Amino acid sequence: MSQPASFTSHIWDTSDLYRNAVEQLVEASQTMNLDGNVAERLKYPKRALIVSVPIRLDDGTVKVFEGYRVQHNMTLGPGKGGIRFHHDVNLSEVAGLAMLMTFKCSLVGLPLGGAKGGIRCNPNDLSRQEHQALMRRYTTEINMIIGPDRDIPAPDVGTDGQHMAWMMDTFSQNRGFAIPGVVTGKPIEIGGSLGRAESTGRGVVYCVQHAAKHLASIGKPTPKIDSSTTVAVHGFGKVGAVAALEIHQLGCKVLAVSDYLGGLYNKNGLNIPKVLEYLAKNRTIVGYPDAEPITNEDLLALNVDVLIPAAIDGVITKDNVGKVKAKIISEGANGPITTEAIKELEDRGVFIIPDILANAGGVIVSYFEWVQGLQSFFWNESQVNEKLAEVMSNAFKRVVEIQAQYKCGMKTAALIAGVDRLDRAMRLRGLFP
Ligand code: GLU
Repeated sequence: MSQPASFTSHIWDTSDLYRNAVEQLVEASQTMNLDGNVAERLKYPKRALIVSVPIRLDDGTVKVFEGYRVQHNMTLGPGKGGIRFHHDVNLSEVAGLAMLMTFKCSLVGLPLGGAKGGIRCNPNDLSRQEHQALMRRYTTEINMIIGPDRDIPAPDVGTDGQHMAWMMDTFSQNRGFAIPGVVTGKPIEIGGSLGRAESTGRGVVYCVQHAAKHLASIGKPTPKIDSSTTVAVHGFGKVGAVAALEIHQLGCKVLAVSDYLGGLYNKNGLNIPKVLEYLAKNRTIVGYPDAEPITNEDLLALNVDVLIPAAIDGVITKDNVGKVKAKIISEGANGPITTEAIKELEDRGVFIIPDILANAGGVIVSYFEWVQGLQSFFWNESQVNEKLAEVMSNAFKRVVEIQAQYKCGMKTAALIAGVDRLDRAMRLRGLFP
């Protein structure tokens, strides 16, 4: 993939995810005529910490894993972003994800910067005890750059509230007192927020509803988001499963869902609450009786109104984009569609809700959790959901206004919305020294 002439890194741009993020940034910078000095700085992360994470496996042997924490930009506030456990994790990918967090936090108006972390491992091959050891040792290794006013991790692919509880406990043990504000996405019992676990999936679906209303308002043929609407959800984890349930509860027909082992298809719509019950018992959706099997690849190509890619990055590429038939795509995962594939889809008139908007619900409620924790004053779930809906709705409006102003795609418009606020903040703070 070609790079802009000024991008001279030999460290950061080794992953498609980072290259895609920079390409999107360059496109947004050119469209909005961004100050070249600001654009230059945003192409590089502020700092990265690479750590070795040794743990004793259940069989008694010691294995060393590679861990990373990258802080991309902290102009607006402390770093914010998840910790990923995945076999593909590497420095460049984590840096690209940290960059997306910067734009996401800025786009939705949070006083937070962008960061991301990860451990290169196969989470499905590790026991609960091994997960705990990895999380605790990793926390100790990155201890000096995280904290409630420095950088606040959260769950991401392969991690959940339990991982955050271990991280919070390890960080607190090192200081000698409880510091719940060091992470978000914690269980409720130790300072988590009501509605955080569901927030990303909920936000993905709010965006689909906004998209349908927006398309109708500009006279485009659009699904109504009711029982006549068909949906496919790729990835049935923390984001996909909630999105599937929320959109099912709106009356839509979820024809297909999938996890990393395979997918389910039912032409009349799946009973999502029943699929969730099956998943809780079997730890996979594969084998659920009231459906036919479908591959992940075929799911992405289904003729549905709404497609929600909510698993991992790079699933829709130039190789399979020609088969995608959905009318609205809400990017639940970070970077599920490559830049080339986005261009092709937008040229074909597909309405894409970009990741930094579609999946921002998670970090928005993370921010609410952080604020509630700092005040030790907790809100009920309807207050959380109401505030989430308001922030998402304002962000959506802002992105479509920018799209109309610059006559660009939604992806570029979302980036511009994020970069614009950051640009003003960076120029006000100036370049040190
Ligand atoms: N990992 C999530 C994301 O990519 C949430 C980050 C957070 O809550 O800090 O947006």
